[in-house]
Amino acid sequence: MNEYDSNRIFDLTKKIDYIKTKNVEEADCYILNTCHIREKATEKVYHDIGRIKKRFRNKKKPIVIIAGCVAQAEGDILLQREKYIDAVIGPQSYHLLNNAIKKIEKKLRNLNLTEFETQEKFDNLNLLKNSESNVSSFLTIQEGCNKFCKFCVVPYTRGAEYSRSVDEIVKECYHLINNGAKEITLLGQNVNAYNHDGKKLSDLIKEISKFNDLKRIRYTTSHPIDFSDDLINIYQETDKLMPLIHLPVQSGSNKILRLMNRKHTVEYYINLINRLIKINSKIKFSSDFIIGYPGENDKDFEDTLNLLKEIKFINSFSFIFSPRPGTPAAEIDQLDKNIAKERLSIFQKTAEDIKMKFRKNLYNKKSTVLFENRMVGKKEFFGRDELQNSVIVKTSEDLKGKIKNVDITGGNQNTLFGNIDFKNNQKNAAA
Ligand code: SAM
Ligand code: SF4
Repeated sequence: MNEYDSNRIFDLTKKIDYIKTKNVEEADCYILNTCHIREKATEKVYHDIGRIKKRFRNKKKPIVIIAGCVAQAEGDILLQREKYIDAVIGPQSYHLLNNAIKKIEKKLRNLNLTEFETQEKFDNLNLLKNSESNVSSFLTIQEGCNKFCKFCVVPYTRGAEYSRSVDEIVKECYHLINNGAKEITLLGQNVNAYNHDGKKLSDLIKEISKFNDLKRIRYTTSHPIDFSDDLINIYQETDKLMPLIHLPVQSGSNKILRLMNRKHTVEYYINLINRLIKINSKIKFSSDFIIGYPGENDKDFEDTLNLLKEIKFINSFSFIFSPRPGTPAAEIDQLDKNIAKERLSIFQKTAEDIKMKFRKNLYNKKSTVLFENRMVGKKEFFGRDELQNSVIVKTSEDLKGKIKNVDITGGNQNTLFGNIDFKNNQKNAAA
């Protein structure tokens, strides 16, 4: 979502003639868009500012603005501790950015813009065409969260759940597709909680799948509890919807899920997965896990490992619990760091083995790849298969935005390698 936000920030500042520079060493204005989901983000801000300060030691000071969730959560502290910062601006106040820059140009500083004005923000952003021109583009449809998992800062930094209207989303889709997008990933902290005037995520997917030139639709991140029947059923209705579902579970222990306030059990989660696979057997899953949550004992960890092995997630993102200031879980007795680290390493090794086993199964098979860009300076093109695996093929042909059948010949942890299957692609073209 920060990537989407950063692009929209560029669209905004263009209006006052601040354009994205290729020379980051010599910018007139730095906007650091930050994430607060785990620790170290704040330290990184100070570190980055230190580098900017050094670079501009004997030159005119550039404008420095801290945007995003660190600004929202720690704005006052940032402004107090680092006088080099001109303004902090929270994720729901981006529409005030140009005004802030104009004020800073007039030597007004120390600006704190951290109101929750989500509706106003989108009303303003809707007036600007989204200029992103990637084959695979992001589009925020929902923001914020009302779920209050005990470990998470999102409800405090992004505010309450907010869904944009179908009309404005369809308009933005239209612009992205006109700019060359073939794949759109709908974004939201709770994307499947999307609801605008009774229109749900499934309605939106139906609506945007009508665009002929849009070939692939994805969405992230879903919460298991918001996976309604209509969303499950839509996997039978449109093959533009890609069969990889990112469905964070966080833990395989009901005790820990309860402590986290996740609102679902392991059994509910497994049942949901089985229902989805029954509707469409191509569907695969990826997930997020928090390891070392306060109260997690050996048995709870074992349960999490067992869930990982049972579902065989094709991608697992695992993090050691990070106490976030202001969240309830930060107040509870923390687990020993070394135990948490050891568990994380066991978990990640198991997750990696499962992932590699799955990937090796793809070797010597065919795959459908949407190509995005040529690898810099190489005779290779980069794309992604339906399950979002990176695929690289050697070719001199310009494949940007094209979908091709590829024979997968091998790969490593991160990438699959293959050759264009000329026979089948010719057949496709003739059909
Ligand atoms: N809304 C999504 C959900 O509920 O599944 C997750 C969104 S959150 C921005 C992304 C991931 O960051 C979470 O799934 C969780 O695994 C991880 N995360 C959030 N807070 C964390 C914390 N305090 N410590 C470690 N990981 C955390
Ligand atoms: Fe954070 Fe997701 Fe829980 Fe909301 S549902 S509080 S975004 S982890």
